[in-house]
Amino acid sequence: MTSQFGDSTRCVRAGRPDAARPGEPFLAGPVFAAPYHLDPVAGPQPGVDGYGRTDNATWRGLEAAIGELEGGECVAFPSGMAAVSAALLTQLRPGDTLVLPSDGYFLARAFAQESLPGVKVEFVPTAGPYPSFDGVRLVLLETPANPGLDVCDIAALADRARRAGALLAVDNTTATPLGQRPLELGADLVVASASKALTGHSDLILGYACATSPELAAELRTWRARTGGVPGPFEAWLAHRSLGTLDLRLARQSENAAAVAELLAARPEVGSVRWPGREYDPAYEVASRQMRRIPGVVTFTLPSKAHVDAFLTASRLIAAATSFGGLHTTADRRAQWGDDAPEGLVRLSCGVEDTADLLADVAAALDATATQ
Ligand SMILES: *Cc1c(COP(=O)(O)O)cnc(C)c1O
Repeated sequence: MTSQFGDSTRCVRAGRPDAARPGEPFLAGPVFAAPYHLDPVAGPQPGVDGYGRTDNATWRGLEAAIGELEGGECVAFPSGMAAVSAALLTQLRPGDTLVLPSDGYFLARAFAQESLPGVKVEFVPTAGPYPSFDGVRLVLLETPANPGLDVCDIAALADRARRAGALLAVDNTTATPLGQRPLELGADLVVASASKALTGHSDLILGYACATSPELAAELRTWRARTGGVPGPFEAWLAHRSLGTLDLRLARQSENAAAVAELLAARPEVGSVRWPGREYDPAYEVASRQMRRIPGVVTFTLPSKAHVDAFLTASRLIAAATSFGGLHTTADRRAQWGDDAPEGLVRLSCGVEDTADLLADVAAALDATATQ
């Protein structure tokens, strides 16, 4: 309905009523209900809310909004992992083969390896090369991959998956639907965490899955109701409220990341710098073709853990925190989570601070590592 508009207009209006009604808020408050009143005579009626595990108007508002931005039908989940696991558990049976990024989100890898008995898991680096998808049931891509920020060609891989009869899912957490719309590029499913840049205020955990096929979406919805892992109405409402500023936040985060990546690349103590928007980045060519904007996450390496410690201690603007995509610039030394990343690898998530302030802070914090 709002596709003729630009990104910011779509974000501000997504999932909200088209017609203004005097006296009503711009976004209705969250609906808190376990049961709803039933008609005492007719009982439960189709299309009328009956019970809170299956029916909630606040979820529907958020799902309409995200569905509009992704270009599909959205099912909200209480976390990104709940969405990823729902997609894998509804689509895979013992004997099936799953292709998964070897450099993707570590919990998705752990889940596939340890919680899908009988499913054969093939790990492939996001940058490829990809094996034949013959005999594969589901290919899950993550692009840009977290935390290494490699990028793959969704449309080309979707085409290969379709010809092999495999389903293609894309984890769209890092890009957000303003960065890329995988369903338009041929993916069958999008899964994502809404806890990161999509909502961006570092105050909620939520996830979603989207599909263009009504059957796939219905399977996910039924799965959610039966397994009972449902989002809280308050989180769903906070998320919907936060979507309005998505375009503004991403624009500043991306601008900050571009400037910080340049600064880092010019510093002698910094090893590799990855940001797919940088002309020298290995992912630049595919990212600039495929992505409508580049996220605010930059990954770089310092020589040691001690260097990272000194960098984070000296910085006044960078908070040590995992997760990414928030208003505040945060940094995460991935090796501290048991990720198989180098000791000095930092995933820096640029916030919405003034670019000049952030650059000055990063430069000063790097200077402070000189005593290491
Ligand atoms: C954070 C993240 C997830 C999991 O999301 P949660 O909301 O933390 O459960 C999945 N995929 C990617 C790429 C992530 O960054």
